[in-house]
Amino acid sequence: MRLLIMGPPGAGKGTQSKRIGDHYGIPAISTGDALRAEVSAATPLGLEVKPILDSGGYVSDDTLNQIVAHRLEQPDTGAGFLLDGYPRTLAQVSALEQLLTKQGRTLDAVLALEADVEELVDRLSRRAQIEGRSDDTEDAIRIRQKKYAAETEPLLEGYAERGLLVRVNGLGSVEEVSDRIFDALAAVPRRPEPGPVAS
Ligand code: AMP
Repeated sequence: MRLLIMGPPGAGKGTQSKRIGDHYGIPAISTGDALRAEVSAATPLGLEVKPILDSGGYVSDDTLNQIVAHRLEQPDTGAGFLLDGYPRTLAQVSALEQLLTKQGRTLDAVLALEADVEELVDRLSRRAQIEGRSDDTEDAIRIRQKKYAAETEPLLEGYAERGLLVRVNGLGSVEEVSDRIFDALAAVPRRPEPGPVAS
């Protein structure tokens, strides 16, 4: 299965991604986790992106495209992958498409987790307290919701036009949402692999 999971911050993408990854035996790849790991390790990239993560902005497309291109070259993605938090901009959608075409792969489905914004702000504030995430101030939470609505949500339309979009209600218990996701994905036709493009 080659999947994307999209949805507003706090909709439960991270939790559901891990469950989907386990279910299909594919790596769940979170660009947010990758960036947070760079920040924790205080790498040059981590130091550069920390203020962006803290403020709720988006890290540059070039940086994200490089991270994902490198990750999707790893052999553990051979049976498939689930990308969580990428693509978030039109430039990233195009870069991912080019990369997959080069690799002779296509997406099977794009999952959109849907949830009410008020519920999300509440969830994120609670998570910030529990996990002590420095990037989860109230201002940053609001900026992220706005950025998602303005820049990322419109990308779903393109995937809907390609017949890839699977919308799932993200409200309810973790198990309820997972069951909805697995039911919805079971109905998705697997696309044949076009095979790698000769370079
Ligand atoms: P997430 O955990 O997916 O909400 O990501 C946390 C933060 O990492 C975001 O608020 C962005 O600052 C940054 N980030 C993660 N993925 C991307 C992306 N695809 N494009 C730009 N910034 C990203």
